[in-house]
Amino acid sequence: MAEIISQLTMNHLPFKAEAVSRWDENSDLQKFLVALYDQPCVMTGPDGVEHHSNYSDYGSYLFDGGIEKMNAFANELSESSEDVYHQNPDKIHKKKHEFLKDDHFGLAAKSIVAWEAIDSAMLSEDAFVSIYHTLEAGSDLDCSVLLLKSFNYKQAGYCLRAFIENVTLPLYFSQNPDKYELWKNDGFNTPSFRRKSDGLLNQLVSQGVLASDLAERVGLVYGKLNAFVHSSVSSMIHAGHDAGEWRGLCFKLDEVHKWCGLVTECVEVGIRLAKIQTEIWLQTLHSKPDICTICHAENNFESKQIDSVGNEPLFELICKKCGHKWHSTRRPK
Ligand SMILES: [Zn+2]
Repeated sequence: MAEIISQLTMNHLPFKAEAVSRWDENSDLQKFLVALYDQPCVMTGPDGVEHHSNYSDYGSYLFDGGIEKMNAFANELSESSEDVYHQNPDKIHKKKHEFLKDDHFGLAAKSIVAWEAIDSAMLSEDAFVSIYHTLEAGSDLDCSVLLLKSFNYKQAGYCLRAFIENVTLPLYFSQNPDKYELWKNDGFNTPSFRRKSDGLLNQLVSQGVLASDLAERVGLVYGKLNAFVHSSVSSMIHAGHDAGEWRGLCFKLDEVHKWCGLVTECVEVGIRLAKIQTEIWLQTLHSKPDICTICHAENNFESKQIDSVGNEPLFELICKKCGHKWHSTRRPK
């Protein structure tokens, strides 16, 4: 199987900070999405004739959908931007902020669209070490957006830290499959992420899974997000009591911009980690072609021929353990 996230795709990172209103067909996001789906495909017509095509149009389709979705997100944030409060009435300044023209927001929006596309590419090709963590990372990001919209900035940070954990842990489990089985039975304690001696990130570096500079970047953003989880005073919704600066639960442009920076950092390292995860899984499939991608049971399926692709038979395989169904032109053993 071809690689899932190509180097040509990665070459478009990091994205340029560009307001959503300025995104067009020359945008780095559009090029990233087209490169991600630049995969050849062969379709067989009813007459049995093969037609060679390419999925890159799907990248353009995702870009158009992304513009629409991020326009709606920007407008929603703009609408809420006048919902401000300060304990000192003289410091309440109501002014609508135009997120469509905001470069910081545009960069975070690119990251969100890019992650959805990466997620979709991994899921459609079953190219993940852990279905749980891959799906959960997407939900973490979605939830962070929801919390941001309701002004729960600290809590939106919790979800970003969970996102980092869920894009990193599959790499750890790829090297420690016994720990993955323990985790499935709630018998696993996640090691400290950043501990110098035996922290999870350092273990991955020692095992040659992560380059030390990438591990450092992951550790850095994880450290910043710890401030939200441990309720450092500056990250609290109710910060400012001692200085007469309490704003409570309301729109805060400074917090939205902080979130935009964090989302951008999280997704960029997330994409780099996802590329490694897909490569590790494709290697596993190469050495264990009869493994179930969902539950990892080996040689434990029922199969039957359901069709043919050109001159090759097409088989349907159903895992006896988890019920996962997949198709293959390779004759099962
Ligand atoms: Zn299975």
